[in-house]
Amino acid sequence: MKLVSKIALSLFAGAVSAVSTSAQVSFNFNYTTGSELFTQEAKDSLESAASIASSIFTHTASIDIEVTAVSNGSTTLASAGSNFSGPFANGFGNRGVVGTKIVTNNGTDLNGATADGTVTVNFGQPWDFDDSIAAGKFDFKSTMIHELLHAVGFSSDIQENGNDAFGTTPGNPGKWVPFDEFVSDSNGFLIDSQFQLNGTAWNAASVGGTGASPAANGLYFNGTNAANAFGGPVPLYSPNPWEGGSSGSHLDDSYFNGTTAPLMLMNAATSTGQGIRTFSNVELGILRDIGFTVVPEPHEYAIFAALGLGVLVISRRRRMVSVSGD
Ligand SMILES: [Zn+2]
Repeated sequence: MKLVSKIALSLFAGAVSAVSTSAQVSFNFNYTTGSELFTQEAKDSLESAASIASSIFTHTASIDIEVTAVSNGSTTLASAGSNFSGPFANGFGNRGVVGTKIVTNNGTDLNGATADGTVTVNFGQPWDFDDSIAAGKFDFKSTMIHELLHAVGFSSDIQENGNDAFGTTPGNPGKWVPFDEFVSDSNGFLIDSQFQLNGTAWNAASVGGTGASPAANGLYFNGTNAANAFGGPVPLYSPNPWEGGSSGSHLDDSYFNGTTAPLMLMNAATSTGQGIRTFSNVELGILRDIGFTVVPEPHEYAIFAALGLGVLVISRRRRMVSVSGD
């Protein structure tokens, strides 16, 4: 089910692994709706995922996550997001509660006693909770690391129609999250210095497709650190049609497919079998671009490429079952 060439694996091994001894960000989980679905093994696995996710940050913060569980046959494995709380302003500074707590080293909790972020798990899918993933099961720990990074801020808030989260239409100054500043098409940034999104360019690139190398007509993340790590603007998931909760907020699954380029932790979908639990230099670069201090310093991703290969708003991003079997 999981087709990863050995060359991809060996090259990807050069990417940065988590350094567990440096963890100073902690995630505290409050199990609410569906808590009876969480076995102790599942809770332990989530705690382990949290320690891996937190280990990349050199910040100090205590993050409260509300955990809910469902059980259904949908292709959504899990979803997560940060809560948001005002004041909001035009620009790219509308960071969620989770990310704000981290960048201010616990100095600012925008919503007080309310949970900082949320994670929802679908137990209707077959999970494996330990470190040896059985055939036909999904790597729970990998998916939880992925979800926690969404809660931290690895997420665009540009809506399908190009509006911001408050209904501001393209061509008008919007209120964006830090990630949005670097969302680009092949011609450059899609939101200008007046915080106005180019609607025409967005409408083309947001469904510009995937699969090219990279997807010339789709979305990119073009922050300095990420682009330096990748060797250019980083392809973002931009399938046609738009996939709410997935488009724009993930790396491009069709490019980072395990053949053209390594599979990535922050791909939109995952297959059964062992998942990705390490952070590539590209993903670390994205986190750096959106304002976090992470360790260690990135290496060159180019090795692989050179081989030719007031209001309360909740932002939620999904991880899907891979339907392509890769
Ligand atoms: Zn996701």
